[in-house]
Amino acid sequence: MQDNFGRTIDYLRISVTDRCNFRCTYCMPEQQTFLPRSDLLDYTEIALIAARFIRHGIRKIRLTGGEPLARRDVDVLIQELGRHVQSGALDELTLTTNGSRLAHFAPILKESVVRRINVSLDSLVPAKFNAVTRGGDLGQVLDGIAAAKRNGLAVRINMVALKGVNDDEIVSMAKYCAANGFDLALIETMPLGDGVSGRTGQFIPLDEFVAPLRENGSISPLDHRTAGPARYYRLEPLGLRLGLITPMSHNFCGDCNRLRLASDGKVHMCLGSEFYVDFREAIRIGGMEAVDGLLQKALRLKPERHDFERQMEDKGLRLHRHMNATGG
Ligand code: SAM
Ligand code: SF4
Repeated sequence: MQDNFGRTIDYLRISVTDRCNFRCTYCMPEQQTFLPRSDLLDYTEIALIAARFIRHGIRKIRLTGGEPLARRDVDVLIQELGRHVQSGALDELTLTTNGSRLAHFAPILKESVVRRINVSLDSLVPAKFNAVTRGGDLGQVLDGIAAAKRNGLAVRINMVALKGVNDDEIVSMAKYCAANGFDLALIETMPLGDGVSGRTGQFIPLDEFVAPLRENGSISPLDHRTAGPARYYRLEPLGLRLGLITPMSHNFCGDCNRLRLASDGKVHMCLGSEFYVDFREAIRIGGMEAVDGLLQKALRLKPERHDFERQMEDKGLRLHRHMNATGG
């Protein structure tokens, strides 16, 4: 599949639910309203849409949310989508999670086709972790991550760079990841969603965030790529693979290969745009031909790039949707 700008689209992120047991300060407000359950696609509908996308050229799927492991019986969906990996139609099925339910799910994931997971972890200090997630239990998440490691899952830790919050923890996080054989990805905060206060002041470019790592080591580029937007580096002497995700300071839209299916059936063509194409009625009423038609429309409407810079400067442009609606 190609969009109007000649980019190959082969990666689908599926937000399984917009609900979450955490309320990370940069992601959503404390009093967040979620979609009524009746608005959600059921697993059969998600699987049907995914199968059609795979038929048209999607090669990788990542399940995300909200918290994907918080939706009931999500292993049923994992199993269903896993069939496409087994048949060779899909290269990979992965998952991004806040880790709070990983201790339970790690053995289940091990039995599935999922081999790699991303776990969000913004702090290794219990009180700070609790404050950033508004209620998360660091010990529970670390136990979940340890269970993932024990069960042979490759883990990448996602850490959102927050000035004045966790910029003093980059070295300890790098050491934790290196000691456990995990990759570490750092993410710049993006200006998504209403009612999230204080985030603009917490923005810090990754060049600045990683400066302490350069004091006692070196960072050199690697050829390694995954389907996502991270650029990878080798951090020595720790021997850590470090991913940098810089939507704000170094735009990567020229390489964008993604569409995002939200839990209510809307396909978002760009995190930084309000445009979407609604697949829910298509799958419920129109059938596969309607889905195919909308997929072509989504490709045509995919914007060339996000407009976060202007949104950050707050020139009256606001993206109302939160990250949990579309998934990271
Ligand atoms: N709940 C799961 C988790 O936290 O990993 C999956 C969904 S979460 C929306 C996916 C990723 O988006 C997480 O790594 C999270 O840190 C990141 N994220 C959320 N809001 C963000 C924002 N405003 N800017 C940058 N990253 C954000
Ligand atoms: Fe939940 Fe993930 Fe958003 Fe945190 S970043 S509130 S864990 S969806």
